[in-house]
Amino acid sequence: MGEVRGMIFDIKRYAIHDGEGIRTTVFFKGCALRCRWCHNPESYRKEAEAALRPMRCVGCLRCVEACGHGAISEVEGRAVTDFAKCVVCGECVEVCATGAREIVGREVGVDEVMREIEKDVVFYDETGGGATFSGGEPLMQGEFLCELLRGCAEAGIGTLVDTSCYAEWEVVERASGLAGGFLCDIKHMDSEIHRQFTGVGNETILENIRRLAKAGRKIVLRMPVIAGVNDDDRNVEAVGRFAAGLNGGVERVELLVYNRGGWEKSRRMGGRYDVMDGEGVSAERMEAIAERLRGAGLDVRIGG
Ligand code: SF4
Ligand code: SF4
Repeated sequence: MGEVRGMIFDIKRYAIHDGEGIRTTVFFKGCALRCRWCHNPESYRKEAEAALRPMRCVGCLRCVEACGHGAISEVEGRAVTDFAKCVVCGECVEVCATGAREIVGREVGVDEVMREIEKDVVFYDETGGGATFSGGEPLMQGEFLCELLRGCAEAGIGTLVDTSCYAEWEVVERASGLAGGFLCDIKHMDSEIHRQFTGVGNETILENIRRLAKAGRKIVLRMPVIAGVNDDDRNVEAVGRFAAGLNGGVERVELLVYNRGGWEKSRRMGGRYDVMDGEGVSAERMEAIAERLRGAGLDVRIGG
């Protein structure tokens, strides 16, 4: 059997917000959810896609000539892209000297990713860090994820899986036997509101978290706090009850500050993803939410 391969869109070294210590975060491409506040909408689709950073474009029009698929045309001296016609050939990236054009997503083998992760073993050892597999949704590429988790385990590198927990239990279970722990997103406790803002209900997610807790896995719950979406007392109370009801299975709850970057990125992808230009909550409100959760007996941290 050949080497297992997967689709990623980035590998970030020296990450400090994706678990304890200094970490290398591998961003998987592809996700079944469509969170309206997502700060990585370039991870939605599993396939590679073309993107454009308009601020970097100097109007040289070399990409217009390079694109043999009619996806880029000159309009009043500007290179205008019709992403619907793009076949992701990468020719425009080759000729763009400013880095305005890029292909997001590439297929990689397990060995290549492991080589990158292993570069910083000394930092992991010194800081209690390791590798974090994030996305997108790493559980959507279960075999690739498990091979990476196995590789890290063999190399003595700690691992975390940063996940929506929206996956078949069999996949979660397989990964859980290899991973050091899970960073599980919790977005809303009301399934209908969850569906409204993410595209799916929360039943599978909550059940997987319960099962992970029952299996004694290390779990950190992470809640992106979005004003007017999930910051109300009723939802916060429900999160507290759920987390506390996992009988000590939750190591910590992390309240994540809203990151507007996704909205800008969706524009880079030709505006084809419906990411909201949302708002976070004030520092005072965030502290009040944290206090309410602490009242449920939980260890709470603001920020990842
Ligand atoms: S090649 Fe790059 S800099 Fe030149 S017009 Fe195209 S996007 Fe802009
Ligand atoms: S990736 Fe290829 S098809 Fe898409 S815009 Fe660039 S040159 Fe055209």
